[in-house]
Amino acid sequence: MISNINDVIGLFYPRICGGCDAHLRKHEQNVCINCLQRLPKTYYWDYKENPIEQLFWGKIKVDAACGFLHFGKDSTVQQLMHRFKYKSKTGIGHELGRQFAIILRDNQWFIDVDVIVPIPLHPSKQLRRGYNQSDYFAEGISEVYDVPARSHAMIRMVATDSQTRKSRFDRSENVEEVFRISDVDAIRGKNVLLVDDVVTTGATLEAAGNRLLEAGAAKLYIAVIAVG
Ligand SMILES: [Zn+2]
Repeated sequence: MISNINDVIGLFYPRICGGCDAHLRKHEQNVCINCLQRLPKTYYWDYKENPIEQLFWGKIKVDAACGFLHFGKDSTVQQLMHRFKYKSKTGIGHELGRQFAIILRDNQWFIDVDVIVPIPLHPSKQLRRGYNQSDYFAEGISEVYDVPARSHAMIRMVATDSQTRKSRFDRSENVEEVFRISDVDAIRGKNVLLVDDVVTTGATLEAAGNRLLEAGAAKLYIAVIAVG
């Protein structure tokens, strides 16, 4: 007996885990419990100072920064991130955001956060991809903390190719011009959580974080799904 609309949808679009392709059970969303348990978590939330925070030392004032997973080649994380970023499996990002936020909140991280701001894509890139993956990560966190995610508070002025991001940043005369705040009222005086999918050098987050601080953010927090 088909009891609800989700069961009907499930007949035509089986609900599959984004990590291992197993059929999801009723209470599971996008990623199965087995995968969630086995994901290579950083446990940075237990550190007094963690490697992501250290990326910003001597550069910008970050009140706290944390990452959820280690990004390794051939890992479930890579599979999840690929489907999330390039295969329109946006629910994966939402679920990872939710799971990460539950851990963070339970460990007293970011408890006074007011607003969540995802790193924006350049409009031309977002048009090509159809979505900004970080918006979904932000929404998952937003749901747990019950604070708004403002995906239009910041815009990206310069298009960067992910393959050449580092070299372009190195060549850029003024990295600060990559981002611009488009809604100062959403930022000024607020404790802002800046979120991105992956962190490597931290250059992108630093550039965006600088803009938030210039716009009057009271505190700057950073959260990323994966640490490269
Ligand atoms: Zn799975």
